Amino acid sequence: MPASALSTQHTVEQAKALAFRAVDFLLEHEIPPIPLSYGVAYEYLSGGSPDLCKTLDEYLQSGRKLDAFVLRDLHERHLAVDRSTPLSSMGNDLQSLLGELTHNIEEAGRGAEEFGHALDSTLGHLASEQDARSLRDLASGMLVATQKARQRNEHLQQRLQLTMAESEKLKLELERHRREALIDPLTGLWNRRAMDSELDELMAVEPDSPLSVLMLDIDHFKRINDTHGHALGDAVLRHVAEAIRKCLRSNDQAVRYGGEEFLVLLPRTNLVEAAQLAESIRVRVASLRLRRRSDNLILEPFTVSLGVASRRPGDTRDTLLRRTDRALYQSKDSGRNRVSIDADQGLQAGHA
Ligand code: GH3
Ligand code: MG
Ligand code: MG
Repeated sequence: MPASALSTQHTVEQAKALAFRAVDFLLEHEIPPIPLSYGVAYEYLSGGSPDLCKTLDEYLQSGRKLDAFVLRDLHERHLAVDRSTPLSSMGNDLQSLLGELTHNIEEAGRGAEEFGHALDSTLGHLASEQDARSLRDLASGMLVATQKARQRNEHLQQRLQLTMAESEKLKLELERHRREALIDPLTGLWNRRAMDSELDELMAVEPDSPLSVLMLDIDHFKRINDTHGHALGDAVLRHVAEAIRKCLRSNDQAVRYGGEEFLVLLPRTNLVEAAQLAESIRVRVASLRLRRRSDNLILEPFTVSLGVASRRPGDTRDTLLRRTDRALYQSKDSGRNRVSIDADQGLQAGHA
């Protein structure tokens, strides 16, 4: 953490000094000061987000080179507003729809009340009026009241239908917006935010059924970027995502967890099955042969490392993910291009 962590409320002078420091910080790390990177650097230097400071400090201490992708990842994890909540404009539309519905319902109530009064007074007169003329007058009075009520009803029905169609449209739009906020645009997989709630739900819904998680990280991905450029790096990410998708069963859910890290949630899957699935992904990725169309460049084969863990009694999302992450790092530490299972569960794997 930088020594002079300031509060998030800055004077103009403080903000100016921070702005310069943020740009210097980026240039020092050879990162172009585009707004998103600048925002993360500013937040880091101001100490406004303790979690972000901690993660970035750890990253810097590990000696790895910082770049715009890492900053984007930090932004996504620590600073991005939750776009899964409806836009305020959509909120306004909903508000006015609700108003319209309430109005229609009130009007329907008023119509029924008026019709009721008309009927009441007609019935009252019926009791006293005897002659044919008065009865005819009463009957035509009732006819007028009935017609008025019917017209009002038809009108209301049309308006209700319009309101319903409008609300259906809004519902679809909201759904689309929610989905988009939860999908990683590069790979089309779920993003980290989607995973958080999905895993919580999986853990809550079937507390007793086996549940495994698989974590995957591309080996030496930075080299691919450095040698061939980020566009090809992006293509590799898409192909890895596709390879993962091809190995999954219908209930498995793949997530782009970070820059070049993926996670797969495996409901109703024990450790042995999870390790088999991880192995099939490893093999599929290792057999990919990619060719760049523009210049026919054949990309050298690349590999992935994977870690798997299964839920144990008392696990929370964090403890389960931490053990999966540990298994992944075991794969990295022992040479990459392999699958490791959570060390604590290794002995149990044969009985799972
Ligand atoms: P290791 O085998 O230890 O995992 O090495 P590595 O090079 O894969 O790992 P490292 O964490 O050093 O580098 C990961 C790089 O991934 C850093 C960043 O430049 C790159 N990266 C992250 N997100 C993206 C992205 O969306 N597109 C591209 N092209 N690169 C990305
Ligand atoms: Mg990584
Ligand atoms: Mg990697």
